[in-house]
Amino acid sequence: MNDLTREPEPLRRAMTEAVERVISSGSYVLDREVERFERSWAERCGVRFGVGVGNGMDALEIALQALGIGPGDEVIVPAMTAFASVLAVIRAGATPVLADIDEETALLSLESVRRVISGRSRALMVVHLYGRLERMNAWVSFCHDHGLVLIEDCAQAHLASRNGAVAGSFGRVGAFSFYPTKNLGALGDAGMLITDDETIARKARQWRDYGRSVSGGSGLHLVAGLNSRLDELQAALLSARLPWLEGFNAARRAIAMLYAQGIHHPGVRLPPMPEESDSHVHHLFVVNSPQRDALQTHLNHCGVKTGSHYPLPVHWHPACGNPPRDPLGLRRAERHAESCLSLPCHPFLEGYEVERVVDSINRFIFTRGATP
Ligand SMILES: *Cc1c(COP(=O)(O)O)cnc(C)c1O
Repeated sequence: MNDLTREPEPLRRAMTEAVERVISSGSYVLDREVERFERSWAERCGVRFGVGVGNGMDALEIALQALGIGPGDEVIVPAMTAFASVLAVIRAGATPVLADIDEETALLSLESVRRVISGRSRALMVVHLYGRLERMNAWVSFCHDHGLVLIEDCAQAHLASRNGAVAGSFGRVGAFSFYPTKNLGALGDAGMLITDDETIARKARQWRDYGRSVSGGSGLHLVAGLNSRLDELQAALLSARLPWLEGFNAARRAIAMLYAQGIHHPGVRLPPMPEESDSHVHHLFVVNSPQRDALQTHLNHCGVKTGSHYPLPVHWHPACGNPPRDPLGLRRAERHAESCLSLPCHPFLEGYEVERVVDSINRFIFTRGATP
């Protein structure tokens, strides 16, 4: 699925130099490397401020805290996403309200969101699942019309763009994870929230550092914040890795294209290819099959490792209790979770490996007795 040991030698050298630079500086938390990476990532995304934090989930929680969204407030989220998206809402003290997805793209369904909106709805969290950026102008105007704050979970969509506008720049806040396997990954946990709003950026800087005032050096703790600071090491490593991101995204696109052209199987549904190639960075290439488990076993026998993102919809996890949801149910999210399979799609796959994946899928024989 992912093989980070295959990273190119020049990148490894750049990372080693970054580590040496930090060691020589003798400063390890929230200093110049963090500021530098915050600036460059915010700039690449086309917004004014970046606030480096401990991980992607904290970026979402801190965004909500900085927006003043908490107990009594509802945040609309898709029922098919990383559990961390929803957990961030719970941790902020707000109520996640689950909307269903569109079957084709597995992204949030507008019709379902219309059904769950209420007088307590404060924010809408759009998740660019698998790296796909869609309908952002529609979401922006929808949120505007309904007085909702738009938050983008960009953990899988580094530099996905639409008409030149980059993921994270559409909403009031964009939240990124730099977990090692993401399109831009650190060598450990790291995250960032980006925003054009100076007040949110300032509050987020407070929240990540025990709620301590960031202006004037008074040392006052203004809110009961978190400890979610970004390390100098991770920031320096991310700066070293950033110049490689676009090339790696292009490599993922090329693999996705080969899969889309090569896989032909009546029992395997391919994800739709995007209208604009830049709008999808293919963090994951996810197919659906009514016999997902048999397909996964078959591929495993062929030497192809796969994954499932995610095998359960959000509401099937005991940790979120019984959250409010679309009154018509969340059937499409449930069906997607039961049938989705993530194929290997990382920048270091060789052509013959991609061919092997394609051939192995095309040779898959439906098991008898299984109901499609
Ligand atoms: C990875 C991920 C997160 C959480 O990021 P962490 O850095 O692991 O906390 C949140 N949302 C989505 C969609 C993710 O893929």
